Amino acid sequence: MLPNPNQLDILVTGSTRGIGFAIAQRLLESGYGVVLHARKQSAIESAMTSLKSFQKFEHQIRGLCFDVTQREDTEAKLLQDIEQFGCYYGVVCNAGIAADNAFPAMMDKEWDDVIDTNLHGFYNVLRPLVLPMIQRRSSGRIVTLSSVSGMTGNRGQVNYSAAKAGIIGATKALAVELAKRKITVNCVAPGLIDTDMVEPHVLAEALKIIPMQRMGTTAEVAGLVNFLMSDEAAYITRQVISVNGGMFG
Ligand code: NDP
Repeated sequence: MLPNPNQLDILVTGSTRGIGFAIAQRLLESGYGVVLHARKQSAIESAMTSLKSFQKFEHQIRGLCFDVTQREDTEAKLLQDIEQFGCYYGVVCNAGIAADNAFPAMMDKEWDDVIDTNLHGFYNVLRPLVLPMIQRRSSGRIVTLSSVSGMTGNRGQVNYSAAKAGIIGATKALAVELAKRKITVNCVAPGLIDTDMVEPHVLAEALKIIPMQRMGTTAEVAGLVNFLMSDEAAYITRQVISVNGGMFG
């Protein structure tokens, strides 16, 4: 992608599938430059191919490959990218995993992987980027992905609820630190959204407690993130906004 000085670039972590992919597509439609991200280059390439089939997006996309749990590599890749193309206007911390288990049976790896990816991922991605974002001396946007599970606590998700609640606290604290810099920091908390992350046995039980009696779509989450990136959202910061069909309010 050729750098376009008038284009606002947004990094979306975990954006080759699921919610992240829908966010990337929605932001491209709004005219932002999007930095697609995944762990594997092959995933980035196939997502880029399908997005570039909308030819109008061709000059708006580039890709970046790193594992958000690998702190040094994450920082190196991010700094290399912004040195070449300039710092991002926005960052969407979307990459996340779940590894559900009843707490007494939870394996160390299930605890560690979920905290590493979701919560340490927040730190590993945002810590190196915040100072360069401040140095842009312009408005900026950070959106994090929590979950209804981080707000209510959820059976079989002690690890995931802990990580997602941690993201809410971290998001609110960072919002206070960055408010006077015109950088907003908000958290989107989806309920049950139709992606690979939702296992079939979870779906049947969950539908009983969703007043709208359906899963949300990735486009419904992406629409909110797109709004939070806009000028109209400049006075919204330190908020947790749910997209959950009435599951929790
Ligand atoms: P998916 O499983 O569909 O996609 C997850 C994305 O995160 C993938 O792109 C994956 O990349 C990336 N990712 C996972 N681990 C890492 C890692 N270590 N380093 C880099 N990238 C990684 O998930 P969803 O789209 O469903 O979820 C997106 C976000 O929304 C997550 O934070 C999730 O917790 C949250 N959420 C989802 C809900 C749902 O019902 N789906 C509900 C509430 C919150 P790769 O292709 O390399 O694996």
